[in-house]
Amino acid sequence: MPDPMLQFVRLAQASPEKRDVRTRRTDFEEIYRDFGIPQARAQSSRCSQCGVPFCSIHCPLSNNIPDWLKLTAEGRLEEAYEVSSATNNFPEICGRICPQDRLCEGNCVIEKGFESVTIGAVERFITDTAFERGWVKPKKPRRELGISVGIIGAGPAGLACAEELRRIGYEVHVYDRYDRVGGLMIYGIPGFKLEKDIVLRRWRLMEEAGIVFHLGADIGGDLPFADLRARHAAVLVATGVYKSRDLGGPGVGLPGIVPALDYLTVSNREGLGDAPAEFASGALNAAGKNVVVIGGGDTAMDCVRTAVRQGARSVKCLYRRDRPNMPGSMREVKNAEEEGVEFVWLSGPEAFLGESHVTGVRAIHMHLGMPDASGRQSVEPLDGSHFNIPADLVIKALGFDPEDLPSAFGAEGLEVSRWGTLKVDHKSFMTSLPGVFAAGDIVRGASLVVWGIRDGRDAAAAMHAYMLQQQTALAVAAE
Ligand code: FAD
Ligand code: SF4
Ligand code: SF4
Repeated sequence: MPDPMLQFVRLAQASPEKRDVRTRRTDFEEIYRDFGIPQARAQSSRCSQCGVPFCSIHCPLSNNIPDWLKLTAEGRLEEAYEVSSATNNFPEICGRICPQDRLCEGNCVIEKGFESVTIGAVERFITDTAFERGWVKPKKPRRELGISVGIIGAGPAGLACAEELRRIGYEVHVYDRYDRVGGLMIYGIPGFKLEKDIVLRRWRLMEEAGIVFHLGADIGGDLPFADLRARHAAVLVATGVYKSRDLGGPGVGLPGIVPALDYLTVSNREGLGDAPAEFASGALNAAGKNVVVIGGGDTAMDCVRTAVRQGARSVKCLYRRDRPNMPGSMREVKNAEEEGVEFVWLSGPEAFLGESHVTGVRAIHMHLGMPDASGRQSVEPLDGSHFNIPADLVIKALGFDPEDLPSAFGAEGLEVSRWGTLKVDHKSFMTSLPGVFAAGDIVRGASLVVWGIRDGRDAAAAMHAYMLQQQTALAVAAE
């Protein structure tokens, strides 16, 4: 058979088609259509099968990208699925929401003159096809080890760890204070980036594999952390970071100024059919309102695009730096602009106007100064450049910090870094408490789903090694 690869010289890059902007700005369905088989095969064949694949090196999961691209190009889709799922618990999710321009695709060598291989879209296609054709099976163990493990947090880090440990044969219990599984994948990230059914079908598979979920279980609240430690041979903390960074300035406490995650959670709950009161009352609903979102990261992009879909009268994003210095993915900025969001660059809030409810934001123009110690240009206000923006809803999207976990868990010996994240040994993933491990955003600070998966997998391997060691020690002691 002739080699189907290296087609980048004659075949242009093509991403999955985007839905028409007039339709997509009125619903919460994903904006990208699926690749068909011919398109997926053709786009995979553009890969030049590099001896040193920089795409894989820059994928946090070190996915075997050239291998599954070649198998896809050859039409060997089931094998492509086997290879792709060997290193990633949720390839269809990463294919949808990884910032590929900064990771795999941004480092594809053909990017230099020919535009990268559309790695994310192919990864999504492979696993979506595998689901359609019934190739995705629950990861059940061959034998039960009779050892119980507790995992706090059902986000990507906790779930990846749970799946890996269950596969080996552990009895896995996952505790989450929410009523659904998925963490920020279910209540943070909106459906137009990641439809909820994609997350929910993973939940069903994990239950079929025998993982036990305890939902509505707030560890440190209803359920003492010490009880969990006593119940399980090892515990993983994967609770993410949820404390919103706040703003200052006159009027900041006015009704109508809300944290981003409260707003997004209510919107996601509405989409899932929960009919939350804050949506019905209009408190967390942008319909008919002038909306101002403050911040320039991916959370801000999710808020502006949610507000558009809820039928806001106008949506502005206020960001104190300029477009090239924005932390959010450029792909999402472009999508937001297409959907009618107005970006007010180099501008920050000074005060919030209104008596009993916010009516506007008084902002000031900024300019970029000299780079600071971190190498990032400082931001300085331009004297006398104030201006007012009308606003009935102001959404604060300035990032997240960890909660004070040692206090919340009543675990004084649980050491934290100066940023409040949990300290772990980077090889063993163990915290300062024996048998207590940690992974995901609670260790890294606000990060990405793909890093959560990576940490969850690594933590599972480390926990397995620890429990084997404990068993051996017990056996020796009993002799
Ligand atoms: P989480 O997903 O936060 O899960 C933690 C879980 O722990 C939650 O379910 C929570 O309920 C539970 N929990 C917390 N405390 C307790 C407790 N005391 N008891 C019981 N349960 C508890 N990443 C991307 O890669 N691509 C994106 O497009 C993207 N978009 C994002 C958009 C938004 C709005 C946000 C906020 C984040 C986004 N991220 C994105 C980041 C990504 O979602 C996170 O990095 C990732 O979910 C972290 O995984 P985690 O498992 O560490 O924590
Ligand atoms: Fe790229 Fe993310 Fe997939 Fe890795 S997991 S190949 S970074 S899309
Ligand atoms: Fe293929 Fe690009 Fe990866 Fe090279 S860097 S193996 S061309 S996807």
